[in-house]
Amino acid sequence: MRCAIYPGSFDPVTNGHLDVIERARKLFDEVVVAVAGNDEKQPLFSLKERLDLLRETAGSIDNVRVAQFKGLLVDFAKAEDAGALIRGLRAVSDFEFEFQMALMNRKLDAAVETIFLMPKEEYTYLSSRIVKEIARLGGDVSSFVPACVAKALAKKFAK
Ligand code: ADP
Repeated sequence: MRCAIYPGSFDPVTNGHLDVIERARKLFDEVVVAVAGNDEKQPLFSLKERLDLLRETAGSIDNVRVAQFKGLLVDFAKAEDAGALIRGLRAVSDFEFEFQMALMNRKLDAAVETIFLMPKEEYTYLSSRIVKEIARLGGDVSSFVPACVAKALAKKFAK
C-alpha cells in the first residue's frame, strides 16, 4: 500500500489544492491531506474550520483522507507509514522555499521522498492568501474555491 501525505495550512482549501489532490490520488493508494496544527502563521480559519472545509470538499473522494498533524512532518509521515510528501508547485516563486523544505525533510528522514505536482495552468496564480484578500475586499471568489469555502469566506468578512 503506497501512501502519501499532502501537508499544508489549507487556510482555506482552494481549487488549486483540490487539483493537486486529484493528481496525487491517481499516483498513490492513499493520500492523507494533512492540515498543520502548529503553523507559525496566524490563520484566518481555525484548525477545526480548515479541517471541516477540507472534509466537505475532499473527504468523500476515494482514497483521500483528511487529518491534522502537529510537530515534525517527517514524524507524521512515519506514523502514517507514508513514503512520500506531496507539494504543489506553482511559479518560480514557490521553488526556493519548497527546495529548502524538501532537502531539509530528506535530511531529517532519508526514507521520505518529496514529490512536486503542477496544477492546471489556470490555478498557477491561485493561493489561499490571494483568495482571502479578494474576499476581504468584497470580490467574487466563486471560481477559485468550492461553494462552501466561498460561503465561509463571505461569513468571515461580513460586517
Ligand atoms: P503552506 O502553508 O504549507 O504553503 P498551503 O496550504 O498554502 O500550505 O499549500 C499547501 C501546498 O499546496 C503547498 O505545496 C502549496 O505550494 C500548494 N498549493 C497551494 N495553492 C496551490 C495551487 N493553486 N496550485 C498548486 N499547488 C498549490
